[in-house]
Amino acid sequence: MTKLVDQDNGPVRAIDDVPKERLCLRCRTLFSSEGFGERICRRCKASRSWKMGVQPTRALGRW
Ligand SMILES: [Zn+2]
Repeated sequence: MTKLVDQDNGPVRAIDDVPKERLCLRCRTLFSSEGFGERICRRCKASRSWKMGVQPTRALGRW
């Protein structure tokens, strides 16, 4: 099986990829993030307007 973290070569994923409180990139409000890839609070996501400013083309199929 493929593991995301190789104990010998160090973590492949970001070290900060853990659920915790993070600042939303849009409104700078603290929110409960599921992981490193979640940087926008639910309220901003719900507004859908964040997609206009942050094109997710690079992240397609990667998260
Ligand atoms: Zn927000």
